[in-house]
Amino acid sequence: MKKIVDQIGAAVRQWDGPQTQDLVLSPGEFGLGKVPERFKPDDVTTVVCGFCSTGCGLQVHMKDGKAINLSADADYPVNLGMACPKGWEALTPLRADDRATTPMLRNEQTGELEPVDWERALVLFCERFKEIKAKHGEESVAFLSTGQIVTEEMAFLGALFKFGMGFVHCDSNTRQCMATSHVAYKQSFGFDAPPYTYADFEQSDVLVFIGSNLCIAHPIMWQRVMRNRHHPDIIVIDPRKTETAMAATQHYAIQPKSDLVLLYGLANILIASGWIDRGYIDAHTTGFDGFAEFVREFTTCRVTRDTGLSSDQIWLLADTIAKGKRVSFWWTMGINQGHEATRSAQAIINLALMTGNMGRPGTGANSVTGQCNAMGSRVYGNITSLLGGHDPANEAHRAKVAGALGLDPSVIPREPSWAYDEIVEGIRAGKIKGLWVIATNSSHSWVQQQDFNELLAKLDFLVVQDLYFTTDTAQHADLVLPAAGWGEKEGTFINSERRIGLIKKVSRAPGQALSDFNIFKLVAQYWGCGEMFTRWSSPENAFELLKEISRGQPCDMTGIRNYAMIDESGGVQWPFAENASDASTERRLFADGAYFHADGKAKFLFELPREAPDKPDRDFPFILLTGRGTSSQWHTQTRTSKSDVLRQLYPAQAYAELNSDDAEGLAIRSGERVRISSRRASVTATAFVTPTVAPGQLFMPMHYIETNALTVPAFDPYSRQPSYKFCAVKVERLK
Ligand code: SF4
Repeated sequence: MKKIVDQIGAAVRQWDGPQTQDLVLSPGEFGLGKVPERFKPDDVTTVVCGFCSTGCGLQVHMKDGKAINLSADADYPVNLGMACPKGWEALTPLRADDRATTPMLRNEQTGELEPVDWERALVLFCERFKEIKAKHGEESVAFLSTGQIVTEEMAFLGALFKFGMGFVHCDSNTRQCMATSHVAYKQSFGFDAPPYTYADFEQSDVLVFIGSNLCIAHPIMWQRVMRNRHHPDIIVIDPRKTETAMAATQHYAIQPKSDLVLLYGLANILIASGWIDRGYIDAHTTGFDGFAEFVREFTTCRVTRDTGLSSDQIWLLADTIAKGKRVSFWWTMGINQGHEATRSAQAIINLALMTGNMGRPGTGANSVTGQCNAMGSRVYGNITSLLGGHDPANEAHRAKVAGALGLDPSVIPREPSWAYDEIVEGIRAGKIKGLWVIATNSSHSWVQQQDFNELLAKLDFLVVQDLYFTTDTAQHADLVLPAAGWGEKEGTFINSERRIGLIKKVSRAPGQALSDFNIFKLVAQYWGCGEMFTRWSSPENAFELLKEISRGQPCDMTGIRNYAMIDESGGVQWPFAENASDASTERRLFADGAYFHADGKAKFLFELPREAPDKPDRDFPFILLTGRGTSSQWHTQTRTSKSDVLRQLYPAQAYAELNSDDAEGLAIRSGERVRISSRRASVTATAFVTPTVAPGQLFMPMHYIETNALTVPAFDPYSRQPSYKFCAVKVERLK
């Protein structure tokens, strides 16, 4: 392994040539277009950050056509001159020594990955997947992709895999973070449509954060809260006293996974007290009367029992919401990653609807997204819905999408894809034989990861397409395809507030690494379906196709002329239909109270709470909570671990936070090594004793590989999102 790292490191260090050309693989050879230059060699140019969904504008400083530094863009409407540590270090991961600079094939004799040329890699890719398809059918090969590549690449991948290669099952790692919000909005509003704009952070007089540690997970959004001049009440509902909870005016440390009971109990108090907006409910919603009847059983007595809060606390919380004139509700993974996540998200939506806190400045039921392009994946990934949020079972939708792409509608499969966990189970059952993993590190991030890793051995062929050949998942691959990263290609991201932003090629990818877009183009040609994708000649041409597909949809972006308009406007929020004016005006949804269901109304949706899976008992007495550790870490640390600067800002080893009372009982002190065991695995970590975690609970950051050895494979029944936030464990001091 070291030999290969050295060999590739040497190749990476040699990239001193011109920065605006694709290397080694001649563009003419495969019909690849040269990435257009959008700036002069010594320009400063704004690029949207490639880590989180905030979508900050970063200025890249160029010298002699080469990116040499970064700064936060003071004029970009998202971040207003601010950036978090990851943003400041965004160029560093591109220069890592373990970049994949050539395709790599596993040598069956030695078991090592060895460099091969693109020709061999592509021929093999197609031969192996075609063999599997011929033998086992169109459901036998799947892909798992990402919220980290540009929208045009996501759409291309989904179209290529389903329409061109003729497969059915595919999913993205956005299943792990945003599937719940997607399903909750779609069912409640009729379309996956987060309603807010970031100005709402500054305009609320009450902000309610539920399962969201915004300070750490979305630090620039938190800075927008800090700019609020209305002296707002900041409410945090979270079992842990997180950094956000410490800065809040009210913190409600509920029992883990009692949020649904609390939200229904609050609704009951608000309704019984007449603290609702009956005019809004009657004009813009359906199902309220049934909901009002349903929540009657969530008495304050029951809520105190289940949540651990006092009656006074619950009434103070309800009273604060009732008295607010502009109340905004915000949630993220604490809600999304639960066993009853969709109904929990909809319980938040219900509170906003019944109090009339929708469509006005400073209001909304607002899901904060995770990855830089989770929103692109949700609308244009061609995974759970057809491109542009269309329905694959709807003939008119199929005809529209096929028409825009110049395809016969018969190539669009009617049947839905399996979700991520169903694909994993498909491998276990021997139904999935081939897997293509693109820009995600499932071997680290998937729930109960050791089971997933054992299952990979059952595959006939595993392809991993990534920036690095050293990821945990690439270690299992038969073939690695080297991909260009953020800053080495162009395209668009869509951020949490539905803002379409531009990323640009400011650095040349090392060696033979290619943009994902160009890899998909090559796959199409080698597969023999290149003719179907001639319209996808460049990311900007693909964007034109997506614009046409979006026509008439809630996410309509037909008014965006071209990439230059996105660049000049500081991003453009959807919807922006043809003839819309002023791309730079901020847009929030539902100002007119019109939702996307056929009757124009939002739905109240609700259901009895479910038992949490994997509950604590005498043998496993603690509840393990997981989440973000620091603002310097990103998910599986595939990129952030490459930065010397970022690595200084967080502990190198996995750690577990536990309460001082529990620590005393177990004779554990901070800094000592402990063993943490769930019903599935045991890991070791460093103990960190802190009052921020309640007795009976442990907290481990998700960034360390140890954490997902412990988590439980349980899923929300509607979104099929894993329940990362709750499992039973025990902790012991290591001698
Ligand atoms: Fe990048 Fe998110 Fe940090 Fe902004 S907050 S700089 S988008 S990682």
